[in-house]
Amino acid sequence: MSVIDTLRYSVNALNVFRKHEVPQDVIFFVTSRCNSNCYFCHFREQLGDKERRGRELTIDEVESIAKNFGQIMKLSLSGGEPFLRNDVSDIVKVFVDYCKPQIVDIPTNGSLPQVIAEQVEKILSQTEDTILEIQLSVDGLDKTHDKVRGVRGSYEKIFKTYKRLAEIRRSNTRLKIKMNLTYLPDNIEEIPALVSLFNKEYAFDRLQITFPHGSSIKNVTDQLSYKEFYLLSQKIQLGARIVNRRDLHSLLFRAIKIVKDQILLEALEAGTMSSICHAGEKIVVLDDIGNVYPCEPIWVSVGNLRDNGYKIADVLSSAAMNDFRKRYLGMGKCNCTWGCVALDRAIFSPKYFPKIVFYLLYLLFRQTQEIVW
Ligand code: SF4
Ligand code: SF4
Repeated sequence: MSVIDTLRYSVNALNVFRKHEVPQDVIFFVTSRCNSNCYFCHFREQLGDKERRGRELTIDEVESIAKNFGQIMKLSLSGGEPFLRNDVSDIVKVFVDYCKPQIVDIPTNGSLPQVIAEQVEKILSQTEDTILEIQLSVDGLDKTHDKVRGVRGSYEKIFKTYKRLAEIRRSNTRLKIKMNLTYLPDNIEEIPALVSLFNKEYAFDRLQITFPHGSSIKNVTDQLSYKEFYLLSQKIQLGARIVNRRDLHSLLFRAIKIVKDQILLEALEAGTMSSICHAGEKIVVLDDIGNVYPCEPIWVSVGNLRDNGYKIADVLSSAAMNDFRKRYLGMGKCNCTWGCVALDRAIFSPKYFPKIVFYLLYLLFRQTQEIVW
């Protein structure tokens, strides 16, 4: 990042102190189509629903949603596989034009190297300041990854996609390439080898592991320990290679992830997750047919944008949203491992800023490039 970019980034980051009318962290499931078959997918039921595909929001409808939304900090396009929509770059453009997100994050199974490279180049050419994070999902070494993803050859495709993205990043540092691994019973043993390989052989701007969530995969999460996940995740964030020390964005989000995992661990151990949760206030989830959800783990829709003139504010002030608040929030009635709420807690609560700055400085001045397992 140049000095001007750093200053602009820092000024934008001050947005967290503003009072916000709408959720700043928007997760948009742009499609229910997918070419993978992951057993831990919490959107699985919708992926198999063929009739649903004809009801996907059109780009004009997406524009109406963005037009009525207001300014946001971060947009994540999820799914399904987002790049199966051939208008992903148009979706990003309308949100950037109307909602001005600082960060657009797109998780992908990396199965379409050519399409992904083309769409990423288009997004970068249509935007000026927005940071674009492409998150490649890698869930184990070679055979394990293919088994978890349910498609042979997936592992190989990921690296083809990585190479295409690394080429683009050479001429545009707004593109960040992130590796995300979902912590699963199948891959726990392989994580040190996988992370060491990525640390040495590839230049990912960030490596991270995430804990799965969602009531539909309770049989999976019941086999896992959040404490063990936490220890591993901290080791990776503190120790993994720093590809570019001038990349303030990636270092800052690494520091935030360290604090976020700590917040989640404390809340889970104390059973106070719902009291720190701002589901529907700081974060909101939209699906491919316009339904609005305050949170992913509960997955209860509080209204549909098509029925509400594409106005998010109307859905979030509905009786259904009030009912959700009464039922789940602030009542100590739920406890979950959805990292996004803890991430927003870290970003929007000034009390965590000193900790974040501490870890940011630690990462900036740290010398080690190896993780000791
Ligand atoms: S790639 Fe994502 S959306 Fe597709 S099956 Fe896997 S977890 Fe689900
Ligand atoms: S399950 Fe409860 S604590 Fe978790 S995100 Fe949803 S509302 Fe918040």
